[in-house]
Amino acid sequence: SNLARKKDASESWVKETMEKIRNIGISAHIDSGKTTLTERVLYYTGKIHEIHEVRGRDGVGAKMDSMDLEREKGITIQSAATYCTWKDYQVNIIDTPGHVDFTIEVERALRVLDGAILVLCSVGGVQSQSITVDRQMRRYEVPRLAFINKLDRMGADPWKVLNQARSKLRHHSAAVQVPIGMEEDFQGLVDLVQMKAYFFHGSSGENIVTTDIPADMETLVAEKRRELIETVSEVDDQLAESFLSDEPISSNDLDGVQPLLDGVISYLPCPTEVCNYALDQNKNEDKALLSGTPIGPLVALAFKLEEGRFGQLTYLRIYEGVIRKGDFITNINTGKKIKIPRLVRMHSNEMKDIQEAHAGQIVAVFGVDCASGDTFTDGSVRYTMTSMNVPEPVMSLA
Ligand code: GDP
Repeated sequence: SNLARKKDASESWVKETMEKIRNIGISAHIDSGKTTLTERVLYYTGKIHEIHEVRGRDGVGAKMDSMDLEREKGITIQSAATYCTWKDYQVNIIDTPGHVDFTIEVERALRVLDGAILVLCSVGGVQSQSITVDRQMRRYEVPRLAFINKLDRMGADPWKVLNQARSKLRHHSAAVQVPIGMEEDFQGLVDLVQMKAYFFHGSSGENIVTTDIPADMETLVAEKRRELIETVSEVDDQLAESFLSDEPISSNDLDGVQPLLDGVISYLPCPTEVCNYALDQNKNEDKALLSGTPIGPLVALAFKLEEGRFGQLTYLRIYEGVIRKGDFITNINTGKKIKIPRLVRMHSNEMKDIQEAHAGQIVAVFGVDCASGDTFTDGSVRYTMTSMNVPEPVMSLA
């Protein structure tokens, strides 16, 4: 197979492939707009196009009304992990339950994330539930990007929210983007890294990206850009420099969530930028560092089970090696050897059969009897990935 050959392939292939994966969660407490944001992401990355077309929608970006969203809930946000592509990046969005309780289910979802978007409401600000979900992610060292939403609402105050993120969440935060207008005048944003202005639904109804920063915003933009550089410098001088001199990943075809998705790609880590360990059952549970790449024995964690139309669906995060349809894999927790009859990748409202998948990816398998939290390997190693086995970040901006 391709991957088998690529397993032996050059380091550069592995590096390039791994760099193009993001495993993220969208974290927020209930009612703060997680569904709305997830839908927009899926819509703009093309995965729920049809649903909207059937409904006769065209430019969904600015205003999706809540009625439609309510109706669409459950259609689009049904799976534990949804795959979409942005530019040539694979973005897996893992459902992170917004439970206040720190349940084992929440832990497992956090365990498989490499990064997250923390949704904060520009009106409500950092609330006690935001503190709880943030604490959960902190415990798993999940680097996070805050997305302050509802800027179009009365009383929107993103600067207040930013200050609360510093005081209540103790984040080293700084704005990467500054809104153009607020409340009913909210029109878009200026990206402080790219130094570009994004106008959503401009006067002609189109989205516009321009390097012309609105004149009345120049002072604010300069001040906030300085603040951003200072904040990043506190962590890492070199990072601050490269941050602002690097050619940003960006194009000029703007749609509603482009700036956020570009941020996910630019600022959240890829799987090889996070160190994951397994406990070696052959060596007194010594920690074994996983390669995070297709090279090495298969190590995968079953993090969620779902009862589906076709039987039990098991979601796996692969940490090392390759998994193929038809492979025999071993459940280290039970010792059982199992053949994989069907391997799929979940999109928002459809699944796609695939032949193989490699480290860094999230896939689902049918017909595999196991419990959530079980670890699978190719049988050559006896590793387990417990929920308490907290990953260690290599780089974190949060
Ligand atoms: P969830 O419970 O976190 O999934 O929240 P929802 O996505 O259902 O959003 C809660 C409410 O906030 C809904 O009525 C949305 O229409 C509304 N909402 C979400 N994002 C925005 C936004 O950017 N602007 C405005 N005005 N309303 C929003």
